[in-house]
Amino acid sequence: MKKLDVYVARALKMGATKAKIIDPATVVVENWVRLKCQYGCGGYGKYYSCPPYAPTPDYTRKMLGEYSKGLFLQIENIQPHEERKIALRLKRMVADIEREIFLDGYYKAFGMTSGPCKFCRTCDTAELCKFPELARPSMEACGIDVYQTAHNNGLKLEIVKTEDSPCSYLSLILIQ
Ligand code: SF4
Repeated sequence: MKKLDVYVARALKMGATKAKIIDPATVVVENWVRLKCQYGCGGYGKYYSCPPYAPTPDYTRKMLGEYSKGLFLQIENIQPHEERKIALRLKRMVADIEREIFLDGYYKAFGMTSGPCKFCRTCDTAELCKFPELARPSMEACGIDVYQTAHNNGLKLEIVKTEDSPCSYLSLILIQ
């Protein structure tokens, strides 16, 4: 087993349906992505995990260039009634695995999740974050084209066309 595969196994054990080690060069960052946050998502401006608080696309592009590996993970087939519960589980999973990777000596480890932060019922952006050890920006908030990045790495991600259709969440932990 390769060194980083232990984190793939950990993610699968914790509930990810897919997990793999990827090259950060396959992560696509584009300026248009944040338009989808600003014009279409109720989280814009309301959470520290979201724009305008999250790292900009320019920052993200530069930051990705400082890493050589990432753990990409996915939870598929999430039914609408379980979205909040699964989103919280995925965010907790990312925080826990990021911490484990960090404690193993990969001190640059940093996670990015999916959607607005869910650790508080409402995010009071007039105050400091209540759980900075857990809260992480979402990939899309940082300008990552999650669809193209998933396709580049052989993960299936399709547009959810109706409110009662299942969806899929992805996260990325940059490692070294
Ligand atoms: S942990 Fe709470 S305060 Fe921090 S980003 Fe998440 S919702 Fe906001």
